[in-house]
Amino acid sequence: MVYCATGNPGKLREFRLAAGQDGIQVETVPGFADLPPCAETGATFEANAILKAEYYGRLAPGLLFADDSGLEVDALGGAPGVYSARFAGPDATDPANNQLLLEKMRGVHSRSARFVCVIALADGGRLVRTFRGAVEGAILEAPRGPHGFGYDPLFYYPPFGCSFGETAPERKLTVSHRGAALRALFHHLSIGRV
Ligand code: IMP
Repeated sequence: MVYCATGNPGKLREFRLAAGQDGIQVETVPGFADLPPCAETGATFEANAILKAEYYGRLAPGLLFADDSGLEVDALGGAPGVYSARFAGPDATDPANNQLLLEKMRGVHSRSARFVCVIALADGGRLVRTFRGAVEGAILEAPRGPHGFGYDPLFYYPPFGCSFGETAPERKLTVSHRGAALRALFHHLSIGRV
């Protein structure tokens, strides 16, 4: 069993789906909701993932992981990047973030983008190491599909010929940034190198 630190139900679903495939159990660390949220002051996904793993790791006697992830849009200079969750404001909803992204991309021809995920693993609150995954795609001109969370309906994945919002969660995990980072994490855990 390994604890995770997230209040994002979309992420938790993906953590559990991937962990179940590897026979690993993932639980939100007890007390997660009682701590004030970790200040995500880092300039990179790595820095924020480490901040979260060390901050919430104090709640776990053993292993805990946290992910920091987001969308980098080339035409926007890599934005929203580490600000993906709060692109449209401090308590922004997914639809508000998507709307703002569509506005900023209106009329923009070059639409390449990638999702990035960095997972930091801590043991008793001390960083063990990080794991990174990324997936390349393009920003659509309108949302498509009922699946996923966040920017999934706007993220077109060329090899599938559809958006992540049109992709079943199991299939998304086989190619996604989070799937890649989680596979590396679970491989690390399964070979006992902690
Ligand atoms: P974090 O909780 O600070 O890591 O913010 C992550 C944000 O990036 C989410 O709230 C989403 O807006 C976006 N994001 C990260 N991963 C995904 C994904 O797999 N699909 C869609 N949006 C994602």
